[in-house]
Amino acid sequence: MTSGAGGLVVTIDGPAGCGKSSVAQQLARRLGWQVLDTGAMYRAAALLALRSGIEPSDGAAVAAVIRRSRIDFDWRADPPVILLDGEPVEEAIRSVEASAAASAVAARPEVRAILVESQRRIASAMPRLVSEGRDQGSVVFPDALVRFFLDAPVEERAHRRLLQLEQAGERVDELALRRAIRERDEHDRARAVAPLVRPPGAVVVDTGGTTLEQVVDRLEREVRDALRRVGAEGTAGTPRR
Ligand code: C5P
Repeated sequence: MTSGAGGLVVTIDGPAGCGKSSVAQQLARRLGWQVLDTGAMYRAAALLALRSGIEPSDGAAVAAVIRRSRIDFDWRADPPVILLDGEPVEEAIRSVEASAAASAVAARPEVRAILVESQRRIASAMPRLVSEGRDQGSVVFPDALVRFFLDAPVEERAHRRLLQLEQAGERVDELALRRAIRERDEHDRARAVAPLVRPPGAVVVDTGGTTLEQVVDRLEREVRDALRRVGAEGTAGTPRR
């Protein structure tokens, strides 16, 4: 088996701002596969905690409100839009405050258990899925068809995030952003449960100094080679370009 229970899964993990989301979306589009942004799920859980007045590091309390709520996606949108109890919250989950809270809720095993189960359920309902996050290849889908680990220097990742936030109309200081990303990395790498690691056997890709297209070309090649190896090359979906 090379996937979650449903079909084929390709995982993309890496630190904040390494370009994972854009790469995952483009790769999924080229292959005609569905894409899952698991960071958006942790961010939605964080938003839920903030809105409910719950301390993001209080795992039991955050897990309890997640159980009473619905975190899912509108799969008809491209890329899919994260929904919190049916409300599209894509913008709200990207604030600096929600980002910091996401890293705190993600360190709690009670929260991870719920979201990992949702991720596996989503994969089992999808014939073909590109799933991106921090632990997709190491914990959630260790038998994925291909597991990628993307990385880039912190300066470059901070600059990329700055451009994204500016585009969304947020004003932030680049040095402060670099510090925040570094802190989030350390937190994600040092946590006891599902820390950010390069899973053994993962294909490591440095996204520093390369274009999005070059990175996606490389990943697409690796996935198509792997599909040929397992005799599933004819089963990729229709590319959405
Ligand atoms: O990828 P993104 O920056 O949106 O993720 C937000 C936060 O969610 C990360 O800082 C990380 O702490 C957490 N996360 C995680 N496991 C995942 C995806 C994200 O712990 N699979």
